[in-house]
Amino acid sequence: MLPRYLQARSAQAFLCLCAFFIGAAPCDAAEVPRTADKPFVIVIDPGHTPKQPGALGVKGIHEVTYNDALSAKLAKALQGPGVQVVLTRAPSEEISLDGRAELANVRQADLFLALHHDSAQLKYLTKTEINGTPAYQTVRPIAGYSIFVSQLNPRFAQSQQFAKLLGQELLALGRHPTLHHAEPIAGENRELLDAKLGIYKFDELLVLRKTTVPAVLLEVGVIVDAEDEKYVADNAKQDAIVQAIVAAAERFQH
Ligand SMILES: [Zn+2]
Repeated sequence: MLPRYLQARSAQAFLCLCAFFIGAAPCDAAEVPRTADKPFVIVIDPGHTPKQPGALGVKGIHEVTYNDALSAKLAKALQGPGVQVVLTRAPSEEISLDGRAELANVRQADLFLALHHDSAQLKYLTKTEINGTPAYQTVRPIAGYSIFVSQLNPRFAQSQQFAKLLGQELLALGRHPTLHHAEPIAGENRELLDAKLGIYKFDELLVLRKTTVPAVLLEVGVIVDAEDEKYVADNAKQDAIVQAIVAAAERFQH
């Protein structure tokens, strides 16, 4: 889920100046050219932390648990010759949003991918309880994935390119995008760049606008929806999602 703090503006912005020239890509001059010696560096960012665990799902499990599990699987699956995988944090660690972006920038990553699991606005949720633990559940089906990119990221074009590949692979898997973030209500109203592929523009997302490398945020599924939670919690389905992300990353490299 995308809590308010993810969108917060920082007084200590360290945006590359070229980010203010929307559509231009002057940052390219500072890129490190990829050579045979330079591996493809992918930074995986498991959303949230133990202290800020994100959305509370229908099983009474916080989002961070799903994010960490999928990130670990993805990191393992991506490992291979010519690829360097960096996780922004271990499951027990805290890290700031600035710290996540800075890590990707310092490592001169070829790709930054934040992994999250989604919720919905409170009016679509009912509070429940599972074995004495509070939980939230949708009052109508809200299911599927969402992909976010920021036009304030200086590598917006490349971010969009990966977002499209990711959307294509997820569709090929049989997943479908949820379009509930485009609903014109408070807290949503996000601009859809591609409704078929489920790609939204969300300029203010801090980890996307402060990264100076191609950056995408994926909401894997909606954990307050019983059906969708069942999907993303399933071991085999997780493996399939991981393979879809790996396929998109491979196509992005070449
Ligand atoms: Zn989240």
